[in-house]
Amino acid sequence: MTFDVAALRAQFPILNQQVNGKPLVYLDNGATTQKPEAVLNVLEHYYRTVNSNVHRGAHHLSDLATGQFEGARETVARFLNASREEILWTKGTTESINIIAQCIGRERLQPGDEVLISTSEHHANIVPWQQACLATGATLKVIPLREDCSLDQDAFDQLLTERTKIFAIGHASNALGTLNPVQEMVAKAREAGAITVVDGAQAVAHFPVDVQALDVDFYAFSAHKLFGPTGIGVLYGRRELLEAMPPYQTGGEMIETVSFEKSTWNQLPYKFEAGTPNIAGAIGLAAAIDWFNQQDREALQAHEDSLLVHATKQAEAFDGLKIIGTAANKVSVLSFLLEGAHPADVGMLLDKQGVAVRTGHHCTMPLMDTLGIPGTVRASFSIYNTLDEVDRLFEALEKVKTFL
Ligand code: PMP
Repeated sequence: MTFDVAALRAQFPILNQQVNGKPLVYLDNGATTQKPEAVLNVLEHYYRTVNSNVHRGAHHLSDLATGQFEGARETVARFLNASREEILWTKGTTESINIIAQCIGRERLQPGDEVLISTSEHHANIVPWQQACLATGATLKVIPLREDCSLDQDAFDQLLTERTKIFAIGHASNALGTLNPVQEMVAKAREAGAITVVDGAQAVAHFPVDVQALDVDFYAFSAHKLFGPTGIGVLYGRRELLEAMPPYQTGGEMIETVSFEKSTWNQLPYKFEAGTPNIAGAIGLAAAIDWFNQQDREALQAHEDSLLVHATKQAEAFDGLKIIGTAANKVSVLSFLLEGAHPADVGMLLDKQGVAVRTGHHCTMPLMDTLGIPGTVRASFSIYNTLDEVDRLFEALEKVKTFL
């Protein structure tokens, strides 16, 4: 069966519109993905017919909402190959990493300890660790890059020592698309005795993730980069670690008992979920996962690869264009610079032609500083993009050159 991108695309109503008088070419999927009808319908249905607070058990709708909300947790648990107690709802990857940095980082780090991250991390996987180090006297260590912007594995081997208490790494770089060999790196870090954290924000929409196979302690992702709603994300945590961690926030839902003298905590996962959760968001994420799983995932992956290959070929042949990040293993992201042009100007001129890309530092300022560039133009592809749209990007870039 051949993959029918037109049929898939038709399920994403937002794509069918004109921007600046041209058909929209949406190539900003690294920032957020669009949502299929299946997800939009579930969200609307929830608010129209189910909306109620969860875990109160007081009435029919509350029971319905609770069932769907906890069912969503089971869906995420299956998606990552985890158990439901290990799946925490968060606002997104950023909050997920902050929870770990605060509840385990600040609790366990001491002067002399080290947190090891990489040069290409998103700010969300830098700043929480930097703050944890500042608060505890621990030191932040950074894995450098090779020429092709992949992580320098020899340097990693040397930086990983018995002082490394936490190893936090992105599964794939949002700025360049580089895919990191996290399974091998996590195995080494665990052997060195470190707690391991993977930022999966740029991974889950591209290939299957299995936290058991990765043998990682924490895995974070955001629903909105996986065809789901904004404002909801996931933190997977290894049960023993979650049990040992203090709560992140306190208040309703996360308690077992409260008196004016003392409070005790609810069981996992609720211990980490203070207040009314994003019920519709969780249900919407589950709808996105269900929808995604109904697709031919291998065909989707092959399609994305073909988009990246097609784009890379054209980029290599394009006069004055420099690809930033040329590692062999990449998700479908093309980051580049046009000679003599500021990325922001290129982005604006592309937008005038209906082509949506992201420009700038992509929340990776230390990476851009290391590369000595102000930022890049980033085209990030998703399953509903077409080879035609890749051509539209390069036609538009030709026009950009004439404007500059
Ligand atoms: N890490 C990476 C690699 C990302 O790409 C992003 C989003 N750009 C984040 C973390 C933060 O995700 P969110 O803004 O959804 O919390």
